[in-house]
Amino acid sequence: MDITVLTGGVGGARFLLGVKAFLGWDPTGAAPTDGPDRITAVVNTADDLRLHGLQICPDLDSCMYTLGGGADVARGWGRTDETWAVSAELAAYDAEAPWFSLGDKDIATHLVRTRMLDAGYPLSAVTEALCARWQPGVRLLPMSDDRVETHVVVPDPQAGPTPVDGAVDDGATGSDTVQPGERPLVALHFQEWWIRYRAGLPALSITPIGAAEATAGPGVVEAITGADVVLIAPSNPVVSVGPILAVPAVAAALRETTAPVVAVSPIIGGKPVRGHADACLAAIGVESSAEGVGRHYGARSDGGLLDAFLVAEQDIAEMPGVRVGTAPLLMTDPAATAAMVRACLDLVDVRV
Ligand code: GDP
Ligand code: CA
Repeated sequence: MDITVLTGGVGGARFLLGVKAFLGWDPTGAAPTDGPDRITAVVNTADDLRLHGLQICPDLDSCMYTLGGGADVARGWGRTDETWAVSAELAAYDAEAPWFSLGDKDIATHLVRTRMLDAGYPLSAVTEALCARWQPGVRLLPMSDDRVETHVVVPDPQAGPTPVDGAVDDGATGSDTVQPGERPLVALHFQEWWIRYRAGLPALSITPIGAAEATAGPGVVEAITGADVVLIAPSNPVVSVGPILAVPAVAAALRETTAPVVAVSPIIGGKPVRGHADACLAAIGVESSAEGVGRHYGARSDGGLLDAFLVAEQDIAEMPGVRVGTAPLLMTDPAATAAMVRACLDLVDVRV
């Protein structure tokens, strides 16, 4: 059984723990060497950024640390037993990027990655080298080796009182406090919008810059066309799955594959389980609901992506041409998540 998963960072990594558990593997251990099954993750790289001269790949690292047993699960990102000496020293020089924290152990990963990239290795090869240490059990493939960066166009927060004052966490509702046109627009790197402004600045557009010209990373197309089933993790549909789908060769492989394509909703009862996916969906004019996400992905029989879509028990999604199933969708532990994976495969009659 070849299972291929399209994924972002934390939510996607948690889903992958469940895929491993579904196959009977240790969720945070290496893959069995003799088994017939294989899991491949096609990972979003449009969140990547350079800080202090270091190339940082938040989604790849979330997957690698989580699946390799090195993630701080309580904090939700970064390494276990992390220390912050370098950040404190940078702050003493007033040279920290105050909205993006880097732990000491994490910095070692970025140093190795950046050195290899500067020596000419593609990101896919660098990722494979980093994974030799972590043994995530899942083949982690960057969606592309080319640079793709999600930019968010917002009214310039530096040009007058900021609309997020006192209302940082309410997603797109900030749009009723600032009318587009009242201030000049500015394009922010996704991470700055997401972390510094907590997605509270009304986004006029969210675009994965470079995706349309990017080629798929090595192995990505084959992982999709050769899979027995393709799963779309309950990752952010706009900024995690969106950039992957925006790489033309990936979209073509998804159209071409004979494997059924099944997505899991990241939205339960109209709200993202965590994060600001609702603000992202609003920016592209999609309703923040399971059905909104499903219709955004579209029915394969109608030129879209999906053969099946799994939503939470309290949700309804009317999607002609798509088999819609319901299941408990909270990824509380790998066993609960494995049950979600089983429900996905049942929807399209795939048996292990
Ligand atoms: P990021 O790249 O670290 O932001 O992570 P992802 O894009 O992979 O995942 C973020 C998405 O995961 C959010 O939109 C959440 O709604 C979703 N999510 C997080 N936990 C759960 C869960 O337990 N169940 C479901 N269905 N979705 C979840
Ligand atoms: Ca991400």
